[in-house]
Amino acid sequence: MKKEFDYIIVGQGIAGTVLAYSMIKEGLSVLVIDDKTLSSCSKVAAGNFNPIVFKRLVKSWMADELIPFSDKFYKDAEDFLGQEFYWKKEIVKIFAEENEKYFWLSKSTNEDTGKYLSEKITTDFFTDVVNNPIGCAFVKDAANLFVVKFLEDFRNYFLQQEILLDELFDFNELKVEPNSVSYKQFSAKKIIFCEGYKIANNPYFKWIPFKPAKGEVLIVKIENLPTDKIINKGVYILPIGDDLFIVGTTYDWVNLNDIPTEKARNDISEKLSKVIKVPFEIIDQQAGVRPSVSDRRPVIGLHPELRSIGVFNGMGTKGVMLAPYFSKQFIEFLKNNTPLNKEVELTRFK
Ligand SMILES: Cc1cc2nc3c(=O)[nH]c(=O)nc-3n(C[C@H](O)[C@H](O)[C@H](O)COP(=O)(O)OP(=O)(O)OC[C@H]3O[C@@H](n4cnc5c(N)ncnc54)[C@H](O)[C@@H]3O)c2cc1C
Repeated sequence: MKKEFDYIIVGQGIAGTVLAYSMIKEGLSVLVIDDKTLSSCSKVAAGNFNPIVFKRLVKSWMADELIPFSDKFYKDAEDFLGQEFYWKKEIVKIFAEENEKYFWLSKSTNEDTGKYLSEKITTDFFTDVVNNPIGCAFVKDAANLFVVKFLEDFRNYFLQQEILLDELFDFNELKVEPNSVSYKQFSAKKIIFCEGYKIANNPYFKWIPFKPAKGEVLIVKIENLPTDKIINKGVYILPIGDDLFIVGTTYDWVNLNDIPTEKARNDISEKLSKVIKVPFEIIDQQAGVRPSVSDRRPVIGLHPELRSIGVFNGMGTKGVMLAPYFSKQFIEFLKNNTPLNKEVELTRFK
């Protein structure tokens, strides 16, 4: 195993994986350190990305830039590994009230949101199984990443390349110099932390105002639902094959752990039973903690005093869509000092 690297990356969730792969593509050498036994919210993420914020029917932050970038990024990653884990999938928005429908129609011809919203309202969408008395419409250009497979495929690649240490990162073993770091027998120009909400244990970044949010999902079996679309009404219903669907989600800012709860199970089941007309069987339940920040933007940059330590985190509810674009931006910052988007800069908290 090599001993000297350009970068050490701690964490192999969506953030660490996307950053490591982006660095490799740029010709940089990386060592990834990740403890497989720790919780990772990436492993429970449905992997959807939606260009529209449903509450206000506005465009999701930077959707026009992030979506084409992510499309290309994940397709390239599939080619690179010779695997499949990324699909464009329309989201079916089922209306709860007549007003919602008229609001949607007005937004579907709007210059800003029009390209993502279908102009047609449909009432005959899988009427045998889906409750749709008012009608539904479609979000275009949405997509889904099969996150567990994406992470596993890259983990296997990193193992093959002998650039992954499967262990708990021990801060006592880290030595920080102005222009380099060393960890055990390994050295690098910089170390980048991508530990998700576990950044709470990182002594260098305790001052970042994270506001993590626990979320839960159910894996359910439902027969005769469409398998090429994501249904949304209060909950999302994402097809994952073999009549199985991921249904979620919940938000809890108090109990920050990955233990599934009866309350979430009941909440999600109740919402699901309002969307579909047929019985369903709960196969599994999973929980994770999103690394969110109060201003809901990623947190990226180098430590203000210790310039050989950096952070790539704060992906919140949208890691799949945010990580590719901002990995590229972070690498340009690291290589050429090209400024980061001000909204994601770590220094906004200093
Ligand atoms: C229920 C739920 C549904 C979601 N659905 C979506 C969705 O549909 N679309 C979307 O874009 N996002 C979704 N998200 C959000 C998404 O999961 C996050 O944005 C993303 O996973 C954050 O990734 P991360 O790599 O920053 O953190 P994590 O996934 O938590 O990864 C951190 C990694 O660091 C490792 N680690 C931490 N500390 C150490 C240490 N000391 N030593 C070694 N390893 C360490 C952990 O093992 C882990 O692998 C969802 C989240 C939840 C909870």
